Amino acid sequence: MESCVAVDREVEKVLSKFNGLQDHCVNTIDDFIFSIENIRKELAAGPSDGPVQSIQTSVLEQSIQRVLEATWRMSQEHKDLHSTVSKVGRTIDRNFVSEFSAVFTESAFEKEECVELLNQIICEHFLRQGKLDIAEALNEEACLNVDSAEMEPFLELHRILEALKRRNLQPALSWVAAHKDRLDEQNSGLDFKLHRLQFTEMVASNPHDPARVLQYAKQLARFAEKHSKELQVLMGSLLYMRQGVHTSPYAFLLDPIYWDEICDVFTRDACALMGMSVESPLSVSIRAGCKALPPLLNIRQVMQQRQVSGVWTNKDELPVEIDLGNEHRYHSIFACPILRQQSSDVNPPVRLICGHVISRDALHKLSTGNKVKCPYCPVEQNPDDAKIVVF
Ligand SMILES: [Zn+2]
Repeated sequence: MESCVAVDREVEKVLSKFNGLQDHCVNTIDDFIFSIENIRKELAAGPSDGPVQSIQTSVLEQSIQRVLEATWRMSQEHKDLHSTVSKVGRTIDRNFVSEFSAVFTESAFEKEECVELLNQIICEHFLRQGKLDIAEALNEEACLNVDSAEMEPFLELHRILEALKRRNLQPALSWVAAHKDRLDEQNSGLDFKLHRLQFTEMVASNPHDPARVLQYAKQLARFAEKHSKELQVLMGSLLYMRQGVHTSPYAFLLDPIYWDEICDVFTRDACALMGMSVESPLSVSIRAGCKALPPLLNIRQVMQQRQVSGVWTNKDELPVEIDLGNEHRYHSIFACPILRQQSSDVNPPVRLICGHVISRDALHKLSTGNKVKCPYCPVEQNPDDAKIVVF
């Protein structure tokens, strides 16, 4: 953040200098145009074939001299502007480290399938944002073979969300009706929440048409079992229809927070239904990377200073624990109590028959033939009986 502020300060300097120079240039040029116009008028007013008077010659010479001087000054100011602009570049170089080779695995994107996966994730990110043209261009240029059937769910989601942001519930209501069974399986409250919003909107916007609202209220009967308390509240608001719900004890029903909530609930439930994560994996990775990079660069520097850079050789594991905060906690991780290493795909945690869990590498190290003694309770067992644990 400090780096951004430092660069921002330099950019501000350039902008103010640039604006100052522009104003000055425009004013000077306007002045010259004005005085040259005057001289021309004066010359035109004189006899057309007579000689130019000496006073006029000297006025002309003086103006030419002034123009030359001003042009020279302006070019100097322009040069000065250049140096301010190049200072911004230097400030960026100084404030942002661009040398990341020490903290990434070069081979990570070497394989063709890894590159394709990365491109797919980028493509999906743009689809989630509704940027169809960019996603399509990437799909074509990177030969990703994502067909329009795969793109459609993202676009539909985006269209419905955009409508919800404009307080239009219809697309979301139709979507919910089309996916009702699966949403019920998920125990989703989306259906009710959408209808509740629709109802409160109707109550607030049709104060003189209670019949229409009551007609709509009949549709809510199907929620009676699960949401009886909320329905009672909604029905109570009908009493204040004429005088205006916004000045009644039910005014809280019109809180805009319900619109923010419905966008979140819709995104969460629709993503779950489509088997997608709520957030774009790309933006999550970038956010996590931005948090993890500074401490990683620091530790790398310390390791280089103390000449122990060879210690960080296991690229599957970070040299320090990095806490990315609750928002980035998705599942538990397992560190082997024997080898003190984080488990991985090649070295998964295994559960011994006594219930203790160690890593598979540790199990192999502790085994002699077909016997292994649990390092925690001395139960002897066959290493083949250990079962892989999946978190
Ligand atoms: Zn044990």
